[in-house]
Amino acid sequence: MTTSKKTHKSNRPSSMCAKCPTVACTPPIKANDVLNIEKAPDFCPMKVMPEVLDGALSEYDTPGVREFARLASLQEFECYEQLPDGRRTKNPRILELIQFAQKCGYKRLGLAFCGGLAKEARMLTKILENKGFEVVSVRCKVGATSKERIGIKPEEKIRGPENWETMCNPITQAEVMNTEKVDFAVMLGLCIGHDTLFIKYCRVPMTVIAVKDRVTGHNPLAALYLSDSYYARLKTKVE
Ligand code: SF4
Repeated sequence: MTTSKKTHKSNRPSSMCAKCPTVACTPPIKANDVLNIEKAPDFCPMKVMPEVLDGALSEYDTPGVREFARLASLQEFECYEQLPDGRRTKNPRILELIQFAQKCGYKRLGLAFCGGLAKEARMLTKILENKGFEVVSVRCKVGATSKERIGIKPEEKIRGPENWETMCNPITQAEVMNTEKVDFAVMLGLCIGHDTLFIKYCRVPMTVIAVKDRVTGHNPLAALYLSDSYYARLKTKVE
């Protein structure tokens, strides 16, 4: 049985959609049927924090936000096609990026990439340029600043204590994107935490084309799919 947990900040249950047994928010009903959320579990945010949902929904009344959300949903729709034998998907994310940027009327794209994916950055730049975009790009090591600047000790350097190591500089990457006034920034392969800082400081619209995963070809879900077998250690419970 799924149980709800209390947060340390309030008595209300924390939202746990990932454990939802009913998914009452996505009922298999017709367009004109009445939606009933009574079947939603007690931890459902629709029940627990309706004022938060109301506030968030009202944000879509902001004209630019509403249009952006509409175009995103349109993009989602266009990733499927209806065939005689059923619905199927058709667009890889790179194509989606191109189509969505075109929908939004973006001309100048920004690529914030990890040095470990420099080849991919060059390939993606070429693809985007061939589709008519101007592409501004900035590598994670921009700034050429030593890792010691943020308190990394010699023995914590990947290349060894005796070698120079440039720190990843996602804040500068974000500020370059902001200064270049790109229409849309695209994150390519930034590490965990570095991506967090990039997102925090980036003030232009942004999306992610790929996240860093050094052992799965940048496909973190591969380890999840193997967590019943080769990566079973992922499921080991902390005592
Ligand atoms: S919103 Fe409510 S009904 Fe939907 S998945 Fe989350 S808990 Fe379940």
